[in-house]
Amino acid sequence: MAFKHTSDKCWRDCGLIRYLTHIFWDCPKLSTYWKGIQKQIKKCLGVTILLQPTLIILGIFQNIIQDRSKTYVLKILLVLARK
Ligand SMILES: [Zn+2]
Repeated sequence: MAFKHTSDKCWRDCGLIRYLTHIFWDCPKLSTYWKGIQKQIKKCLGVTILLQPTLIILGIFQNIIQDRSKTYVLKILLVLARK
């Protein structure tokens, strides 16, 4: 059975048009999710990450954490969060 989604609206029923940036970042229904991820990373690593798409979605960050092992864990957590 083929997936049919003929509307240009977001499938999360937020009422907005589903552009690529909306689907992965701008959807208001995602902000709670990303704030939860930020909170869990703070709990795990003791670091407050900024909620920026370049960091969260693209994984581009520099000098957030000096500890290389924590940086590695942060990369893994962000990959898991995106999935
Ligand atoms: Zn939406």
